[in-house]
Amino acid sequence: MSRAFVHHAVSARVVFGAGARARLPEEADRLGLRALLVVCTPGHADVAAEVASTLGERVADVHPDAAMHVPAAVAAKAVARADALGADGCLAVGGGSAIGLAKAIAKDTGLPIIALPTTYAGSEMTSVWGVTDAGCKTTGRDPRVRPVTVVYDPELTVTLPPAASITSGINAIAHSAEALYAPDGSPLTALVAAESVQALHRALPLLATNPTAVDARADALYGAWLAGTTLESTTMSLHHKLCHVLGGMFDLPHGPTHTAVLPHVLAVNLRAAPQAHAMLADALGAPDPAAEMFGFAARLGAQMALADLGLPADGLDAVIAQVLAAPYANPVPVTAAVLRDIVQHALLGVAPKS
Ligand code: NAD
Repeated sequence: MSRAFVHHAVSARVVFGAGARARLPEEADRLGLRALLVVCTPGHADVAAEVASTLGERVADVHPDAAMHVPAAVAAKAVARADALGADGCLAVGGGSAIGLAKAIAKDTGLPIIALPTTYAGSEMTSVWGVTDAGCKTTGRDPRVRPVTVVYDPELTVTLPPAASITSGINAIAHSAEALYAPDGSPLTALVAAESVQALHRALPLLATNPTAVDARADALYGAWLAGTTLESTTMSLHHKLCHVLGGMFDLPHGPTHTAVLPHVLAVNLRAAPQAHAMLADALGAPDPAAEMFGFAARLGAQMALADLGLPADGLDAVIAQVLAAPYANPVPVTAAVLRDIVQHALLGVAPKS
């Protein structure tokens, strides 16, 4: 086998372990931050306030306005708040929405971010930002938005409801799955991706039955960390493109959308990506990764029909047009026919054609 690759390494300080949030004051001091703006979603304001209280005078204020897919108006308001307070950094407490809002602030102001992730979405490891305006989600990469320090504390994830835990974990599996056939993958990325799929596939069924099991939570968060690094190291393909079009256009929930779409994209893409197929089959312990991801998610109670998540049947043409408008690298050429097949299957939630 000939070897040739470019590997993009992720540099971030990672502090991992049950109770790791107690180390936040020391981590803020390490960066010299004295006026942090703490951002979170409204539903997570109590947790953010509790975390903020442990940081004492290092916190300028708590801004509980984060919303999924980072609406442009929400981003603008948060930037103005950071400016008005003279914030010198952001602390994102929460999932991809809180981290996404901190990234929007960093993109405009250059403020450093400390992230305390509470879901498995993986945004904390990436330099990818996203903002949604008038039903269209724009994403880009900017090294300034990648959190400089990430504190992973599995104890903060025990409150994530089982259904959200499952779909968030599958969102992370999707990063690793697409990293395995990415045009800029590397042997190191592949090892990390396979390990992350294994950890999440092992942990999620345990969380479904016992959401407060901290060891299983730690295993899932470990898988999410690894998945986040693969997301940063590689270029994602059709699955991520399709999900972000669906999310931006119809405000569909992020993790559940990834969960419903992934089996159908894998069924198409793995035919043209034999090495990724083999690694995923091995990590999942199943010969057909697409069928396994569909059965796994369905067994854990995920909704597999995009129709049930809010995609209108007459929305398919608009989705297809927007996905085709900006071509992505993908193992299989992306045509309107390929897309229609994938979205139609996902809309109805029927098993993938493997
Ligand atoms: P989220 O952050 O929107 O969280 C979903 C809900 O769960 C929120 O109401 C939140 O308050 C609540 N929640 C979060 N953690 C909780 C916990 N531990 N206990 C109880 N409730 C909790 O969901 P998400 O899936 O993590 O993030 C989705 C967003 O992240 C999308 O906008 C997506 O595009 C973005 N994202 C970005 C990247 C990137 O690299 N830029 C990667 C993944 C996701």
